Amino acid sequence: MASPPSHDAIILGAGGAGLMCAAVSGQRGRKVLVIDHAPEAGRKILISGGGRCNFTNLHVAPDRYLSANAHFARSALSRYSAADFIALVDRHGIAWHEKTLGQLFCDGSARQIVQMLLDECAVGSVTLHLGDAIRDIVHADGLYRVDYGARAASAPALVIATGGPSIPKLGATGVAYDLARKFGLKVVEPRPALVPLTLPGDEALFRSLAGVAAPVVARAGGASFAEAALFTHRGLSGPAILQISSYWRHGEPIGIDFLPGRQGWLVAAKRARPRATLRSVLGDLLPDRLAEALAERIALPGALDEKRDAVLAEVEERLADWIFRPNGTEGFAKAEVTIGGISTDALSSKTMEARKVPGLYAIGEAVDVTGWLGGYNFQWAWASGWAAGQAL
Ligand SMILES: Cc1cc2nc3c(=O)[nH]c(=O)nc-3n(C[C@H](O)[C@H](O)[C@H](O)COP(=O)(O)OP(=O)(O)OC[C@H]3O[C@@H](n4cnc5c(N)ncnc54)[C@H](O)[C@@H]3O)c2cc1C
Repeated sequence: MASPPSHDAIILGAGGAGLMCAAVSGQRGRKVLVIDHAPEAGRKILISGGGRCNFTNLHVAPDRYLSANAHFARSALSRYSAADFIALVDRHGIAWHEKTLGQLFCDGSARQIVQMLLDECAVGSVTLHLGDAIRDIVHADGLYRVDYGARAASAPALVIATGGPSIPKLGATGVAYDLARKFGLKVVEPRPALVPLTLPGDEALFRSLAGVAAPVVARAGGASFAEAALFTHRGLSGPAILQISSYWRHGEPIGIDFLPGRQGWLVAAKRARPRATLRSVLGDLLPDRLAEALAERIALPGALDEKRDAVLAEVEERLADWIFRPNGTEGFAKAEVTIGGISTDALSSKTMEARKVPGLYAIGEAVDVTGWLGGYNFQWAWASGWAAGQAL
């Protein structure tokens, strides 16, 4: 006769999603085991937000998430909202502030968020096993048996909360996708997102601007973001570029508006300062090195009053939609998140359970739901973890 299960649920991955799911189901009386191969829980939380964890965003809405199924995240996000997480943070006495664009950060340290989740897990008597590799997973007779380190555990429910492969040096792997495929679930092609873009050799002029930042509007794939862009030794970064990277596809251009919100500024400058040059006018509006590089590229010698208004209008248009053709991204090594992942087709949006594989759940970044920069990804981790935790 088969031996009884050792637990009610086994959660693979002690990141934000796994810990939230464990705490919620543990506090609902379930006997929960969390297994993670990393030596400490919540490593991505610890390094997030520059060590202060941008733990949610006041403007969470389903249209700020990318997924092959745009509606999938709606249910979980509405049932466990940013306000719910803020209430939890407040209950634990963690001080926080809004930095910009609704982004909430700890005043102190991201470690407070990890400790809060661990304390919530302790309230639910969750067992946390860290530092051992998962060796094997077998599904038979309605139970999932997991071999890890020198041990084994079994449960009628298994939660995949192992995230995506971004930042492998922190222990990130693509094991979620291997497991999904093993159980017959589809995987939407994973690719790096919220990631710097690289520029080819012929854009070397811009690489000489490494370290220069400017407020821009970045556009690609039908999306646009008004934030800062930063030139790097390899290409482009900064919040506007990280955001647009999630919408960018290989081979496509991105458009940058270097002077957002300004119209007719060059023709107006010609009237006000006829003997000014493009270089000097740009120098008043942009960081000097950027003004120099753009003026060099546009090559409009002489004073403005020597140019027809139509020519100046063309220059304005070019600066409002400067085309870069990235040749790639800095890859999973530098990506804050992975776009794509376990297809939502097979999952219940209410419980995160695979409809055709009873007892198998997937939550967090492992799933094909990716948020904007700014606390949206943690909110998805909390909300999807909470949804599964309610169902286990
Ligand atoms: C540098 C950086 C900064 C970020 N800053 C923010 C931010 O400020 N705000 C925000 O909203 N988002 C931020 N993110 C994104 C955010 O960290 C993720 O979206 C979130 O951590 C996903 O949570 P998760 O629990 O699904 O996965 P993870 O946090 O990645 O947790 C997965 C867990 O699974 C474990 N695991 C993986 N493979 C295996 C395996 N084979 N065996 C056993 N265990 C395994 C890992 O060790 C890990 O503990 C940032 C990401 C990075 C990389």
